[in-house]
Amino acid sequence: MSNNGKDRHVKVLVLGSGPAGLAAALYAARAELAPVVLTGMQLGGQAAITHLIENYPGFPEGVGGAQLGELFQKQAERFGAKVEFDMAHEVDFSQRPYKVVADSGEYLADTIIISTGASPVHLNVPGEEKLTGRGVSYCATCDGWFFKDKKVAIVGGGDSAFEEALFITRYASSVTLIHRRDEFRAGAILQKRAKDHPKMNFILNTVVTEIVGDDKLTTLKLRNVQTNEESTFDTDGLFIFIGHTPNTQMFEGKLEMSDLGYIIANDKMETSVPGVFAAGEVADPHFRQVITSAGMGAAAAIQATRYLEGEESVPEGGAVSS
Ligand code: NAP
Repeated sequence: MSNNGKDRHVKVLVLGSGPAGLAAALYAARAELAPVVLTGMQLGGQAAITHLIENYPGFPEGVGGAQLGELFQKQAERFGAKVEFDMAHEVDFSQRPYKVVADSGEYLADTIIISTGASPVHLNVPGEEKLTGRGVSYCATCDGWFFKDKKVAIVGGGDSAFEEALFITRYASSVTLIHRRDEFRAGAILQKRAKDHPKMNFILNTVVTEIVGDDKLTTLKLRNVQTNEESTFDTDGLFIFIGHTPNTQMFEGKLEMSDLGYIIANDKMETSVPGVFAAGEVADPHFRQVITSAGMGAAAAIQATRYLEGEESVPEGGAVSS
């Protein structure tokens, strides 16, 4: 669809539908600002592909990531938020109202809350790209089931690697966690659960140097970083959980960003452009939790509300001033 955005001029446009985006939508909706959320690729963001979230308050038995995303969405919609399955790929902050170009056409927005999250980091070794979807995966909830009674390897030593490794033990015959050091970043509870699990094995001080297979993954080439000894490891699956990188490409040169590509926002979630706010992992290299992202989203919406209350209606083509 092509349009010039005039029929889609909204007070609050939220980019991304993870915990930050949907919490922002809830707060903006309750402020009667009728926010529109563009979901991005994945409704619910990264949290939605997390098998079980055990540290979001209010769910003593834990809650499925997808289920939590649906609950967030339902609650925001109950107060008037609109969730569009749409993907933004260009922004123009040079004049008010701001312009966002999405798959379905243009939107004009008086304020924008950016909550585009982050994407998994790749190992960048030979074979990785070719065998993604053919044994190599970045999402245990999506692909774990394919490895019923098969051998699986995991790379990473953080919470994600441990949590997802434990999830895959439901299906796989064995799960071998390969980590480049002999100490882990993962929390103590997860480490203990994994170390006590009969299906879990560990290869430490070791990196994957190549992922080998024709149609599908068969073997990993490994190198011990202490001895430089090389070896191979036969496996049906490889899940890579080595961190995330913020989804900020479309804001390059348009907003202030850190060296690592995170949007710089102050304690009111304000970015370097007035009326544009950032919340969640896109602006948070430190915490990256569902609860902290949701909190940032709520704060961004409260600040957007205050910002809109402080000005008269925004003239089309109006100049941007800080
Ligand atoms: P992370 O904590 O940054 O851990 C990344 C892991 O990957 C580290 O062990 C790192 O090794 C390893 N790594 C990085 N680059 C590598 C490479 N090129 N080759 C091999 N290994 C590499 O990432 P995360 O586990 O995705 O977690 C991200 C954030 O989300 C964290 O703050 C975490 O606490 C949070 N999180 C929380 C939960 C939860 O609370 N339930 C669940 C998931 C994630 P080094 O240790 O040697 O650097």
